[in-house]
Amino acid sequence: MTQERLDHLCQRLSLKAVMDELDHHTQQAAKEQMAYSDFLLRLLESELQSRQERSKRTLLRTSGLGMVKTLEQFDFAATPGVSRTQVEELSTLRFVERCENVLLLGPSGVGKTHLALALGYLCTQARLRTRFLTAADLVMQLKSATAQGRYETYLKQNILSPKVLIIDEVGYLPIDREGANLFFQVISRRYEKGSIILTSNLPFARWEELFSGDRAIAAAMIDRLLHHSHVLSIQGESYRLREKVRSGVIRPTPYEGGGLERKVV
Ligand code: ADP
Ligand code: MG
Repeated sequence: MTQERLDHLCQRLSLKAVMDELDHHTQQAAKEQMAYSDFLLRLLESELQSRQERSKRTLLRTSGLGMVKTLEQFDFAATPGVSRTQVEELSTLRFVERCENVLLLGPSGVGKTHLALALGYLCTQARLRTRFLTAADLVMQLKSATAQGRYETYLKQNILSPKVLIIDEVGYLPIDREGANLFFQVISRRYEKGSIILTSNLPFARWEELFSGDRAIAAAMIDRLLHHSHVLSIQGESYRLREKVRSGVIRPTPYEGGGLERKVV
């Protein structure tokens, strides 16, 4: 009877861990002749911990990060342009508290997305709402929300409310005028309000080209992104290619620079 009533109350109060672990803690308390207050403390602590774990899992699942990459998996020796100290500082996530940006620049395959994913993962584990998407998807989703008359709702819910917004692959696909305006709104409205982690294969000097030749909008965007930012300019060869070269699948070829592809978003 008491058990049933307890289960019922735990359900009503959403105390899932208390319900699941009550038996274990009761036995422990009897064994250790624990004070009532210590017993209650343990029970509530386990409830809190289990809620935090659940929240981390949910934040990771809804972040769009897809796959988990970690800093532990990152080989700093293989990427000379990246300072381990700088990345370790970023991993404290103080940049998020200060609403600063992280800009990861460099040619294809040097680990930009890996680092962005790893920082994003850390953010979810610190229970910060995080959203990862490519620049092309961001523009596409903003356009489609606009067409459906849901621009403001979409922007607030998906792009402005996450503590950390990760925009991957800025520069692979050119962005038309409408896209450029929408992209600018994102940068501008998050400015000093929430962090952006951005990866790009294009140096800033070529952003005008990326945004349909609109120099003013490119400059305004770069200005806001750079104002409070950590810039990691990664040099070197593609890690992917290097792995292939090492395993003898292909012969080494020199890097010819990242270009804009033809498809426009
Ligand atoms: P980019 O985004 O710069 O094009 P990625 O981050 O996608 O490059 O890296 C390509 C692949 O190589 C990924 O599987 C990534 O995990 C791996 N990689 C790149 N750099 C490193 C590194 N320094 N240590 C370990 N893995 C790396
Ligand atoms: Mg990438």
